Amino acid sequence: MIKKLIRKILGTKSKAARDTNTPVVLGPEAHGIDPRLLSNNAIRVTSTLQEAGYEAFVVGGAVRDLLLGVKPKDFDIATNATPEQVKRLFRRAFIIGKRFQIVHVMFGQDLLEVTTFRGTTSENAPKDEHGRVLRDNTFGSQAEDAERRDFTVNAMYYNPATQQVLDYHGGIEDIRARTLRIIGQPEARYREDPVRMLRVVRFAAKLKFTIEPETGAPIKVMAPLINNVPAARVFDEMLKLLMSGHALACLQQLRKEGLHHGLLPLLDVVLEQPLGVKFVTLALDSTDARIHAGKTVSPGFLFASLLWHQVLEKWTAYRASGEQAIPALHLAADDVLDSQTEKLALQRKIGTDMRDIWSMQPRFERRTGKAPYKLLEHLRFRAGYDFLLLRCASGEIDAEIGDWWTAFYEGDEITREELIASASAPREGGGGGAGGGGGAGGGAKRKRGPRRGGRNRGGRGGEGGNADAPAPAHDGGAE
Ligand code: ATP
Ligand code: MG
Repeated sequence: MIKKLIRKILGTKSKAARDTNTPVVLGPEAHGIDPRLLSNNAIRVTSTLQEAGYEAFVVGGAVRDLLLGVKPKDFDIATNATPEQVKRLFRRAFIIGKRFQIVHVMFGQDLLEVTTFRGTTSENAPKDEHGRVLRDNTFGSQAEDAERRDFTVNAMYYNPATQQVLDYHGGIEDIRARTLRIIGQPEARYREDPVRMLRVVRFAAKLKFTIEPETGAPIKVMAPLINNVPAARVFDEMLKLLMSGHALACLQQLRKEGLHHGLLPLLDVVLEQPLGVKFVTLALDSTDARIHAGKTVSPGFLFASLLWHQVLEKWTAYRASGEQAIPALHLAADDVLDSQTEKLALQRKIGTDMRDIWSMQPRFERRTGKAPYKLLEHLRFRAGYDFLLLRCASGEIDAEIGDWWTAFYEGDEITREELIASASAPREGGGGGAGGGGGAGGGAKRKRGPRRGGRNRGGRGGEGGNADAPAPAHDGGAE
């Protein structure tokens, strides 16, 4: 009776009869994992640990993916060996982490995370004033370790040697029903670590799983707790979300769950600025496509895209107040980067990449003399050019400028000279240029300073533009 009551309080009631201290053990016929999906290095780590007398399992997202028949992108290992004991067994192994200590085992470029089973006693762990666990390095049994994991589908252990899956929380059933269910009492688990709210959204969008109602219910109310999470962690999670191959679906789901509002300034901007929506949609679509094609994506390009329309708006305002185009763009970039770094710890390198991509944009307007050749030599030309194509495709600027640059980029010497000659010829309309955002960055001819009438043009992308232009053939963010 008391046990039942405790279970009810802890939130494990729906699976009332389950004993979460003893796993359900599934053999290969029952779980159907294809052993070929396992990496050799994962097997190397588990077998080395096992030969040294420790327990070792593949755990977490990798087991979930294996059960779904998907090749895991990385492998996490759980063991009863302490970080020190793990470190001693491998030539290139490093203990890292403050909040939780883990061991990074490296084989060439391949990195595996090895974690010691954690205890459940977060009761005594230091917490912030909102109940968020700050530090916790108590080791425990495998059953305790399972209980501390976030979702049932992420709390299974696979032993490559025996080919058995150990399931403590009904993860197998939830995988089959394509359900995300938090382990334990949802409110308590989100309070301990609000990032779990972002994780559930990411997994739902990425795996196309449904969020079990009790798991989803508290999110809307508890969303503001994300504010207390250190910026660097929010950033890491955002990056995972944006690089999941389902960035757009993730952002839409975040919005649906009310997780974007007032929490992540970045998402406020992205999802609530109608002018930028088309641009951002194109950028994320191309990012998702790149991920699915196994290509790399540069975070700098990604964040530069997400924040571009905010930059445009500020750029226009600075120009309207009398600044020259280029300094105005730098001021706008400063403002945007400053406002984002407060909550979203943008790493310095990413910030530099973003600034590079943005500040290259007015330079695409100069299509005479030596300027285009100089720009072509820019270290980040390809990213800047891909970005330009997105601006064209979204209707922010005339498609003609993108076409010109494609021809210039791909053309031989003669074609290039011809292109420059054609760009130098006087154009109709007298200096109006390609209507839109980056327009005012143009050549020396337009150095007269901002015109009152031009005030709205920058930030009002899309109006009268070629909004239906095809998406760029190039993938955004090529590195
Ligand atoms: P992905 O496919 O994105 O890597 P993942 O489930 O492997 O998904 P990781 O961030 O790599 O996610 O974490 C590995 C495992 O660690 C998870 O499967 C889960 O068991 C556990 N875990 C990670 N973050 C948390 C958290 N915030 N709270 C509880 N458990 C977590
Ligand atoms: Mg993982």
